[in-house]
Amino acid sequence: MSEMNIPVIIPYTDHREAEEMAKVVASGWVAQGPKVAEFESAVAKHEGIAHGIATTSCTTALHLTLFALGISSGQDVIVPSFTFVASANSIAHTGANPRFVDIFRETFCIDPNSVKQFIEMNYSQRGDSLVHKTDGTTLTAILAVHQFGLCADIPALTEIADEYGLLIIEDSACALGAKASGKNQGSFGNPSCISFHPRKSITTGEGGMILTDNEQFAKRLRGLRSHGASTSEVARHNSGGFLLPAFDDIGYNYRMTDIQAAMGLAQMEKFDFILKTRREKAARYNELLAGLDILTTPTEPDGYYHTYQSYVCMLNFDGLTTEQGGEKRDNLLSELEKRGVATRQGTHASHTLECYKKLYGLKPEAIPNSWACDRLSLTLPLYVQMTEAEQDYVTLQLKEVLVLCKN
Ligand SMILES: *Cc1c(COP(=O)(O)O)cnc(C)c1O
Repeated sequence: MSEMNIPVIIPYTDHREAEEMAKVVASGWVAQGPKVAEFESAVAKHEGIAHGIATTSCTTALHLTLFALGISSGQDVIVPSFTFVASANSIAHTGANPRFVDIFRETFCIDPNSVKQFIEMNYSQRGDSLVHKTDGTTLTAILAVHQFGLCADIPALTEIADEYGLLIIEDSACALGAKASGKNQGSFGNPSCISFHPRKSITTGEGGMILTDNEQFAKRLRGLRSHGASTSEVARHNSGGFLLPAFDDIGYNYRMTDIQAAMGLAQMEKFDFILKTRREKAARYNELLAGLDILTTPTEPDGYYHTYQSYVCMLNFDGLTTEQGGEKRDNLLSELEKRGVATRQGTHASHTLECYKKLYGLKPEAIPNSWACDRLSLTLPLYVQMTEAEQDYVTLQLKEVLVLCKN
């Protein structure tokens, strides 16, 4: 029996969430309404962006954004392989092809050189379009993922996007509050999409949000998330409830409820505290785990502000292949679980998942860093309520298991 039982994450809530949600239930207006609008303003204001458009999840936020940008079948969107499968799925949902590129092992974020190489190898310029040499599809966008709360190198990606006439969309599922070069995620001129799943820094149970400074685009997204209606429910009720809205586009129902938004507002009250605490605990892990050859702790490049949605380390097994190292890593995770410490691999290499393997037939080693990070990464527990004793226990168990690993 282990002395402790430590999960990877616990949402940070108190009485405020239940209080705010109960008020909404009592008010009788539980679907998307005033609370969603208030939550959208609170999140957008925090990030210094003009508009927030709440959705049912980050996956639907990404899908809606890509759809509204005109991404559809016959088109390609570049996405890093090493990301939660929803990034690629949101592209596939539009009918377009997710095209997998590699990441940096140090930051887990998309490598702009890999993007450039992928374009130069696979596409030829025809007029204004980049056409895939064998499939005939057109490359239109890059989905940049701010992995685990660290911003991707948006300036370098912007240079490539400008050179080839591509759009950038930011998958900020894990990165609410993240910064690069002193700028907030989502303030580089691209739409960015946030997640409020319980595995992220703040939660609404399920939920997502698109952030954009473009007023026209925001208006279009608001319509498309609500069946394609061109007036909001609130405006409709205020102008005489019998009026039905006009439907100019075939839209979706991706609306967040006011109950969820009430929870989100209570979460936003503590968001800065959550961020600060997660960063302090990450810094403490960095100290406790410093100087181990076998383990690399997460990096935060100069000018970046990491939210540590996940604290993800890399294992360095000298002289082992990725495959062999991966087996060792899995044994290590299993041993930690026995000792009451829940851990996970960072995320997966999407090109190795059956749903995309059967589509492209890519070998794991075709995208080597993504594959290595799939097999050799390790997420440690990190949550606001985590005590120093718990963190010490995790570190002690990890160090013991790493010693076992060496033999
Ligand atoms: C969690 C996550 C998503 C999906 O978010 P949901 O709100 O669960 O749909 C998308 N992309 C990345 C990088 C994620 O980590």
